[in-house]
Amino acid sequence: MPIRTDYCGELSLEHVGQTVTVAGWVDTRRVHSEHLAFVDVRDNTGVVQVVVDEKLDVRSEYVVAVTGTVRARPEGMVNEALASGEIEIADTTVEVLNTAEPPPFPLNERTDVDEKIRLKHRYVDLRRDRMQRNMRARAKVNSAIRTAMERQRFVEIETPMLIASTPEGARDFVVPSRLHPGNFYALPQSPQLFKQLSMVGGMDRYYQIARCLRDEDLRADRQFEFMQLDAEASFVTQDDVFEFISEAVASAAEAVTGERPTEFPRMSWYEAQERFGSDKPDVRFGMELNELTHLFAETESNVFKTPVVKGICMPGGADELGRNRIDQLTADAKRWGAKGLAWFRVKEDGLEGALTKFMSDDEMAGVQTELGASPGDMVFLIADTRRTANKVLGLLRLELGRPPVNDGGFNFLWITDFPLFEDVVDGNPIPAHHPFTMPHVDDVHLLDTAEGDEWLDIRSQAYDLVLNGWELGSGSIRIHRSDIQAKIFDILGIGAEEQQVKFGFLLDAFRYGAPPHGGFAFGIDRLTALLVGEENIREVIAFPKTQSGADPLTNAPTPADPAHLDELGLRVLPRQD
Ligand code: ASP
Repeated sequence: MPIRTDYCGELSLEHVGQTVTVAGWVDTRRVHSEHLAFVDVRDNTGVVQVVVDEKLDVRSEYVVAVTGTVRARPEGMVNEALASGEIEIADTTVEVLNTAEPPPFPLNERTDVDEKIRLKHRYVDLRRDRMQRNMRARAKVNSAIRTAMERQRFVEIETPMLIASTPEGARDFVVPSRLHPGNFYALPQSPQLFKQLSMVGGMDRYYQIARCLRDEDLRADRQFEFMQLDAEASFVTQDDVFEFISEAVASAAEAVTGERPTEFPRMSWYEAQERFGSDKPDVRFGMELNELTHLFAETESNVFKTPVVKGICMPGGADELGRNRIDQLTADAKRWGAKGLAWFRVKEDGLEGALTKFMSDDEMAGVQTELGASPGDMVFLIADTRRTANKVLGLLRLELGRPPVNDGGFNFLWITDFPLFEDVVDGNPIPAHHPFTMPHVDDVHLLDTAEGDEWLDIRSQAYDLVLNGWELGSGSIRIHRSDIQAKIFDILGIGAEEQQVKFGFLLDAFRYGAPPHGGFAFGIDRLTALLVGEENIREVIAFPKTQSGADPLTNAPTPADPAHLDELGLRVLPRQD
């Protein structure tokens, strides 16, 4: 005899008259009399109502197998909210397969449970509908990605976990080596170097659903370890990369939502900064940044005698935003780097606000026209450097207008032409990505001549994929020639010796016939979270860590056994900070 013949949530009027056995957990009980109780039995497909007409001692979360006959519920007793709501199982025998202590928290979706408690008892938490749905959506994402990549001739290659450091810009997790005392492996921040080496190895198209580890501070969208679709391909252009990654992402979205996204528009990094003040613009809503500098060409006031003046308009904001909120926004703007925030209510007869006294009538009229502002709207201006104006207005725009996480569908966007360097510190350029990123073909010559802030104008062949304002992933066309690679290392101040120690193997490999290649990686946790409408990636990870990097379930991290430390030649010193 099998333990179970059917799943709870799959029984329907079609099964009326059949004898079935379901197995699962006792969800709720309603005891009518000593000899009549209704028990909802739950498995991963949902619940089914079971009529028990014997004296029964079961409690919430007991594990049971119930055999009985499916019958239609009497009229008026149908539960529309349940998949199996038109039927129930009657004439039952109930076998208790296991007892259970009362659950540490109610399993319904209405109760808000502290996350630490949920994670400590994740095995109970996972029984909830929400987690069942999320984990199954995640499995669909993985499966759809695999199929899409394989359809496009990608071959799955597993890369090692115990490696030398990978330069993704985060801190490494390190693992001490017992056989080489005093030496450490790094856990991969990404399979970057291995995927490039596999291109030199003629694998042509590589993919892996890869675990990556980065020792960074955790946030809602970040864990120490995360999964990414990691891909690399030879003899490809940026357009090819966009095509195969869009295909994988569209397949994953379709698998979860039933609808296949077809639009994967592109925007240059520069345009994204100018219009949205961000390299991951949320294009689901307007309130775009507008250039107003030209209006202030003749200004007499120091307030607006700045390299740049830009503004945004919040429709209806004049009524919506009270004084406290505006003070709060002004404090935010200063925290983000602005000297101040100029704000104006739009009235029937023009702008109203403390700073109008520094503006001419033409300037005020111009601002209103350029921003398309109407009475009842609120206008914000930032007068500063271009970088600060864009950044602060971009953040303000999100603060004031951003819709919930997956409102308005899924808006994918490729951001192209990222700068090669993100900053210049003491005259030295700091790379925006890992140092294997190919400069833009039209800008390669600038590597020989750039000085000071000119470094920031050099574009690269790096790109990101953005979804509803979240960065899903990044990639680039790589440098495949050792001479250009050596030049970039020089610019970054990585000397010959350090190059040899850290990346000698890659430079060596490039001397043996490296094909042109490029790739991409996107986060599966983030993609899944967005597709199921969760703000926090922990909701789509079976066993995540808390914000402080601890695991309340297993208590990791824990002190190491002193004997083990001896064997590794390690001693733990008190922390000095
Ligand atoms: N290695 C990069 C990352 O993990 C992605 C890439 O450039 O392919 O973010």
